[in-house]
Amino acid sequence: MANSNIKLTGRIVFPDDPNYENARLDYNTRFSKYPCVIVFCQRVQDVINAVKWARENHIPIRARCGGHSYEAFSLLNNGIVIDVSEMDKIYLKKRKGIATIQAGATLLPLYEALWSEGVTIPGGTCPTVGISGLTLGGGFGMLTRKMGLLCDNLITIEMVNAKGEIVYADECVNSDLLWASRGGGGGNFGIVTSFVFKVHPISNVAVYDITWDWSDAEEVIKAWQDWAPFVDERLTSILELYTKNDGRVSSTGEFLGHEDELKHLLKPLTATGKPKQIKVQTIPYIEAVLKFDDGPGPHKFKNTGAFVYHSLPDEAISTLLYYMEISPNKDNSIQFQSLRGAVSKIPPDGTAYFHREADYIMQYITRWKGDYEECPNIYWVEKLRESMLRYVDGTYVNWPDTFIKDWPCAYYGTNYRKLMRIKRKYDPENIFRFEQSIRPE
Ligand SMILES: Cc1cc2nc3c(=O)[nH]c(=O)nc-3n(C[C@H](O)[C@H](O)[C@H](O)COP(=O)(O)OP(=O)(O)OC[C@H]3O[C@@H](n4cnc5c(N)ncnc54)[C@H](O)[C@@H]3O)c2cc1C
Repeated sequence: MANSNIKLTGRIVFPDDPNYENARLDYNTRFSKYPCVIVFCQRVQDVINAVKWARENHIPIRARCGGHSYEAFSLLNNGIVIDVSEMDKIYLKKRKGIATIQAGATLLPLYEALWSEGVTIPGGTCPTVGISGLTLGGGFGMLTRKMGLLCDNLITIEMVNAKGEIVYADECVNSDLLWASRGGGGGNFGIVTSFVFKVHPISNVAVYDITWDWSDAEEVIKAWQDWAPFVDERLTSILELYTKNDGRVSSTGEFLGHEDELKHLLKPLTATGKPKQIKVQTIPYIEAVLKFDDGPGPHKFKNTGAFVYHSLPDEAISTLLYYMEISPNKDNSIQFQSLRGAVSKIPPDGTAYFHREADYIMQYITRWKGDYEECPNIYWVEKLRESMLRYVDGTYVNWPDTFIKDWPCAYYGTNYRKLMRIKRKYDPENIFRFEQSIRPE
C-alpha cells in the first residue's frame, strides 16, 4: 500500500477486510468495482486526512454518501472511496427554522428525526437515498411543488476542498460555490461534510391513489399532463405507466391540505377513463413518507429519463405505449413526476439546477435479476430514450446516464459555462473527477 506522512483515519476497509465485499457495493448492483481502500469517515478530520493522503499518493478519489448513483459514480477501481455515511447527526434549531445535517444522513432516519419535532425538509421518496447526492443534484419528492427542490432549501454547506481544507459556502461567503452546490451534481467540487437547511412545519397530509386499466392509458396520460403541473401547488403527483403485460396505470400524490379539497382538485383525473380504484385519505406525514417509498432495495437497474417542457403530442404518447407493449420485462415502467409550482419560481440561472421551467419529468425504469436479462432491458431503455428525444429537453443530473453523449447540455443547459468557471476556482487540478464530472474551464 501507498507510503505517506499523512495517515488515514476513521473506519478503514482494505480489500482483505471481511467487510470489504459489502462495503465496495453501491445500490445499483449492476456495477462491481474494486477500490484499493474505503474510508468510512467519523469526523471532518477523517475526510481531510483521506483527501490529503490520496493526493500525496496520487490515488483517485470518489465521495460516497447513500451510494445510490445510477451509474455508480461514487465507486471506482484502484482508488479511494471517501464514505461519509457514518457522519449522520442532525442538529435542529426549531425556533430559527433550520437544521444542520451531517453529510452522511439518509432520508428515512432524517425524516423520522425531524418529524418527531414536527418539521421536515422536502427531500426525495426513497428511504435509503443519501442527503449529499440528492441535495447536490437538486432533489425532488412529494412536497416539491409547494416547498421547492431540496437544494432550494439549502442555506450553508461545509466542504473539504481539493487541498484538504475546510471551506464554507452561503449567500455571503463563497456564494458561487453555494450556487454550484444547488444542482451542479455530487462529486465535483469537494467533499461536503454538512449542510444547513431551512425546515418546514408538517403534520397530517392528504394522499390519493387512483388505478386504471391499461386500456385507459392514453387518455390518462393526456389528462394528467394537462393537470398535474398546473394544479394547486400544494399537490405534487406521480403517474406510473406499467407494461401492457402488467396492465395498469396508476397515479398517486400528496396534498398539504384537507382531503375534501383534494377530492375536488382530483376531478379532472377521476373523470378520465374508468378508474378501477379511487382512494383519498388523511394520514400523518411520516406515514406518507413510508407510503411513497419506491426503493425495492439494492438491485440491478438502468434508469434514465427526460424533462418535458410542453405537453407530449399524441405521437409521443403512442411511442411510450408502444415501448410498454414490447417491454422485455413485465416490471419495467415509466414514471411521471409533476414539477412547476415553487420549482419554476426561481429562474434557470438562479442556481445550477437548470430545468426550472419543465412541466414534469419522466423516468424510464428497467430492473432485472439474471445477467442474461441485462442486454435486452438496457437495449429497450436506450431505444425508448432515443425515440423520445425529439419531444423532450434535457435530463436530471441525479439520473446520470453514460449513454448521453452531450451530458453537459442535457444536465446543465446554459449553466455549464459558469459551472466550469467555478470548478476552475475550487478544483483547478480536477482532483474530483469521474466520467461525467464538470471540467475546469
Ligand atoms: C431507488 C432510488 C430512488 C430515488 N429517488 C429519488 C427521488 O425521489 N428524488 C430525487 O431527486 N432523486 C432520487 N433518486 C436519485 C438520487 O437523487 C441520486 O441517485 C443521488 O445522487 C443519490 O445520492 P447518494 O448520496 O445516495 O448517492 P452516492 O452514490 O453516494 O452519491 C451520488 C453522487 O454524489 C457524490 N457524493 C456523495 N457524497 C458526497 C459528498 N459528501 N460530497 C460531495 N459529493 C458527494 C458521489 O461521488 C456521486 O457522484 C433516487 C435514486 C434511487 C436509486
